Amino acid sequence: MVKLSLITTIAAAIALVSAAPVADNTTTTAAAPVTNTSNTTSTATPTTRTNQSASSTSGILPQSSPAWLPVFNTNNVTEKTPIPTGPLKKTSTLKIEDYPEGWSQPDVKHPEVQKVINAIDWSFVPNFKPRHEGMKYDDNKDEACWWTNTQCVTPKVKYLPEDVKYCDKVGQFGLTYDDGPLPPQFDDDPWAEPRLYDFLAEQNQKATLFYVGTNVVEAPDAAARALEDGHTICAHTWSHLQMTTLTNDEIVAQLYWNLRAIKEATGHTTRCWRPPYGDIDDRVRAIAHQMGLATIIWDSDSFDWGLPSVANDFAGTYTQATVDGFFKDWIKERKENKDEHGRIVLEHETSNVTILLTEKWLPQLKKSFDVKPVHECSSKLPSPYWETSN
Ligand SMILES: [Zn+2]
Repeated sequence: MVKLSLITTIAAAIALVSAAPVADNTTTTAAAPVTNTSNTTSTATPTTRTNQSASSTSGILPQSSPAWLPVFNTNNVTEKTPIPTGPLKKTSTLKIEDYPEGWSQPDVKHPEVQKVINAIDWSFVPNFKPRHEGMKYDDNKDEACWWTNTQCVTPKVKYLPEDVKYCDKVGQFGLTYDDGPLPPQFDDDPWAEPRLYDFLAEQNQKATLFYVGTNVVEAPDAAARALEDGHTICAHTWSHLQMTTLTNDEIVAQLYWNLRAIKEATGHTTRCWRPPYGDIDDRVRAIAHQMGLATIIWDSDSFDWGLPSVANDFAGTYTQATVDGFFKDWIKERKENKDEHGRIVLEHETSNVTILLTEKWLPQLKKSFDVKPVHECSSKLPSPYWETSN
């Protein structure tokens, strides 16, 4: 189930990008200018938690401790020392039947989704149309700050913060893994979590994990373990679609069920996310922002997702030598003092192949870099969870 959906979406991603050639003077997006931005400059994180919705006051502040999320009893999931390792305990009371179908777009009519839609001030969300294959886009104007085509991370919408793309300081290495937590594909699957988490614990290494909601509800105890192990959990949507292709309501549903699953599994409401494939523009950013999410992208792609593996039905076209080459280059550039800032590196917890890559390279990276979760190497991010914000 996992591999099929990822193959489909990776194919879709490639199609979207290739269908969006540079067009100097044409644009079919609505490109409506964002209104009401001149009178508001604050993107500051609220200093106190309230249960008010974003639309109740300034209209563009990030959602505070989202009132639209249910309260869950999560059996005291907190960071623990010594770091827990070994087989997962089945403690989560999360019921998968309370959630939408996995690997598919959730229904926007669901009352819980409607509640979020009603809490968002849509006057602050730019009016770009959902993208589709063949739609023209002017990369030179880049009116929507569409990362997929231009790698834009500085929104044109003035109130939105920049995406976090790299660590502040030279020598820092922001360690990130997308698409987890990795559920077992069969009984006693040795590659399922906590395999990677145990390795990271052995290395005394924390990371930033971008979780797919569908996987969280399949493996809520793995999500809880990650939190207990001290990793930072961020969102990565419910079913890993390209967000710029979705309607506003569909974007809300993707983020809502992702946040809900993470909160129910870990007791924590995350304030960070990464769009699948990096596919983000100002419309998507504006919705995520009002749902309390800061955007983290990357500047260094390991292309581990391109190695042939069960996660891509062995259709990956990257060779081990090529992917190893990226890691070697990063270490070389660091040794030669060529970096201008720290890196944020994209890796995945999707199969034995990506996990083996980490087991091979992490110990070597640590000799050259200060390897950290992103929140510890970027001064631009608010605290990762509403529950621990001040
Ligand atoms: Zn992903």
